[in-house]
Amino acid sequence: MYNFVIFVLYFTIAGLFFVCCLSLNRWSTRLQTYLFFSAVSNLIYDTGCLLELHATNEKEYIAALKMGYLGRVWIGFSLFLFIAELCRFKLPSLVKIGCGLAHLVIFATILTVETCDLYYNYMEFTMDGDFPKLLHTGGPLYYLQTAINLIYLVVGLVVIIRALTGEKIAFIRNRYLMMLLAVISIGVSYIFYFFKLIPLARKFDLMIIGYAIGMIFMLVAIIKYRMLDATAIAKNYVVDELSEAVIVVDIAENIAYFNNTAKELFPALGNREKDAEKGLIDDIRFLVRSGEPVRSNGKIFTPKYSTLTTGGTEVGTIYSFADVSEHYRYMDELKEQKEKADEANRAKSQFLANMSHEIRTPINAVLGFNEMIVNECDAVKSGTDIDAGRFKESVSNINSYAGNIQSAGGSLLTIINDILDFSKIEAGKMDIVNDRYRLGVLLNDVSNLIFIRARDKGLKFELDVDETLPDNLFGDIVRIRQIMTNILSNAVKYTEKGSVSLIVRGTRYTEGSEDMLRLQIEVRDTGIGIKPEDVEILFNKFQRLDMRHNSTVEGTGLGLAISDQLVKLMGGSIGVESEYGAGSTFKIEIPQKVLSSELLGNFKAAFERGIAGPEHEKEQFKAPDAKILVVDDTRTNLMVAKGLLKATEIKIDTAGGGEEALQLTEKETYDLILMDQRMPHMLGTEAMNRIRAQENGLNRTTPVICMTADAIMGAKERYIAEGFTDYLAKPMNAAELQAKILQYLPQEKVVKG
Ligand code: ADP
Repeated sequence: MYNFVIFVLYFTIAGLFFVCCLSLNRWSTRLQTYLFFSAVSNLIYDTGCLLELHATNEKEYIAALKMGYLGRVWIGFSLFLFIAELCRFKLPSLVKIGCGLAHLVIFATILTVETCDLYYNYMEFTMDGDFPKLLHTGGPLYYLQTAINLIYLVVGLVVIIRALTGEKIAFIRNRYLMMLLAVISIGVSYIFYFFKLIPLARKFDLMIIGYAIGMIFMLVAIIKYRMLDATAIAKNYVVDELSEAVIVVDIAENIAYFNNTAKELFPALGNREKDAEKGLIDDIRFLVRSGEPVRSNGKIFTPKYSTLTTGGTEVGTIYSFADVSEHYRYMDELKEQKEKADEANRAKSQFLANMSHEIRTPINAVLGFNEMIVNECDAVKSGTDIDAGRFKESVSNINSYAGNIQSAGGSLLTIINDILDFSKIEAGKMDIVNDRYRLGVLLNDVSNLIFIRARDKGLKFELDVDETLPDNLFGDIVRIRQIMTNILSNAVKYTEKGSVSLIVRGTRYTEGSEDMLRLQIEVRDTGIGIKPEDVEILFNKFQRLDMRHNSTVEGTGLGLAISDQLVKLMGGSIGVESEYGAGSTFKIEIPQKVLSSELLGNFKAAFERGIAGPEHEKEQFKAPDAKILVVDDTRTNLMVAKGLLKATEIKIDTAGGGEEALQLTEKETYDLILMDQRMPHMLGTEAMNRIRAQENGLNRTTPVICMTADAIMGAKERYIAEGFTDYLAKPMNAAELQAKILQYLPQEKVVKG
């Protein structure tokens, strides 16, 4: 018997050595790590046992025992880790660490077994025939070690049995079966040894035989069923964890395999009832044949099937459902982008068509009314005894035609300004120029304009302005006026009856040391309103809505896009609430700096007093003794300037270019020179410099006002820096021109009233 045991030990050690080599050779997965750990623990233990069997006294025996335990404490643990990994049973890291520490402590008590009785509390060396033996009784840690090993055994068995019964592939099932047999051999030997169920168990540790048998099963699993084959394991894992659902149906119409995604897609998979399985296979087949994408849990799968063959014989069918959600999402995105691009393109084409219409309409009006003025003049000129009544009628006609031309010109200017502003915003060149301004002036400007437009359309214009708003603000009055005018003009444009209201409020707050006002401007109308689906595209460029109803309303679809961008540039926000058919409310919020605590007061009352009282006429004046020179290469502009100043009785000389201006200024001293900037042979700046440098110096100190259509930001400052006294933007109106001239004429030559 002694010799038999020695033989078994040598066999086991050789087998374990072989397993170590195998797992070292193919070491690429955690499974192999655990197997190696287990084999090495066993190897050490068996070597210790061999040494124990050769011991002749207690000292030698205990030295061999310690050596053996260096491996033995880890055997159950490593095997358990291996089984859990093989059967994909997730062990929390904390459990692994806890068990590892417990085994370390146990080993420490074994190393001190002679002095510490935590593991053995009694030991005595004897010989039982040929077998050296240590009689002992266990201490607390001995029982702890036994309990832990029993837990490993029971849980390990459950895990393997579960994996074995859940596995559909026979080849893999065999692997589990071999492992189950290995664990059973070890377990049985352990139980026999622990409870000393047979006489041999009293002589030596029976687990050596259990391990030897277990080893045979494990080798079968490794070699025959390629348990350590990384590719097979990987394939198994990959297919299981694949995002594609895979279901294999064998030739006998049984579901032979399905992966995790398939289980998610068809929760009924795994149902063991034959009928249910048959129904499920039919459903799957139907889905695959239809070719339609399958939607589940927000994912989209496309079905496919292929025949499974081995050696040319059909053994089943693979049904797969590829997860194409990403692809679909991408397609949806592309579709959305394309729709957006088409929409932008369509809006742009529509914009060009609108633009052409918008520009042609006022030009038509200008040309048409101009022709009517010419005809009217011709009629008066050629009419023989034309009476005073007929003459008056002609003048009144001409006046009305001229008024129409004026308004057409105004529309053209708005369109062009919108386009310029918009291209500036698109190019990122729109600057916000903050300066001090009075809120009262801003509100007065816009209210005056809108009041007249609303009145002309028979609409009520209502004002509600918080009296406690601060009046002295710091911000870009020009841009805020532009935004308010746009929103209020729209309110008038898109309202046929009822009212347009301007409500102004504000919230004071501090930012750092700055006193701030969140200026809240609300414009309400009782007009056509906006459809809910249109609200979100309202601020898009070139977007005009509801063209069926609005086709006769003038507009470019740029106003709101510009306002939106301007508000954003000022750090504010703009929004709209609307009920289609009932009206709209636009709300704007813009942060402004407050410069002083002076309050706005009752703006509404002041405004109403203003419009009810005598009309605020521009300051009327005459200056018959004053003499000015107007320089412009365009004859019509010279005529316009002369015409606009006719009422002032100022003596006006005109020059068609720089050269002519130089000649005139050599002979005459002027009170003021209006100089066009962009002229063909000599720029206005050069003409001005040369006039100021003339030898006789008649006009060295004469103010020179630059007239130009260059209305971009900063133009005024640039011209003044170049030496001009002031700047006038073209096209100009009589009021502006007269006001500017009045500013620079010598006061003694001006007669007011
Ligand atoms: P437009 O020059 O066409 O007025 P906007 O950008 O100012 O361009 O406005 C875009 C579109 O928004 C308009 O064509 C109109 O359909 C709609 N809209 C703007 N304001 C109103 C409003 N107060 N009531 C109804 N529709 C409005």
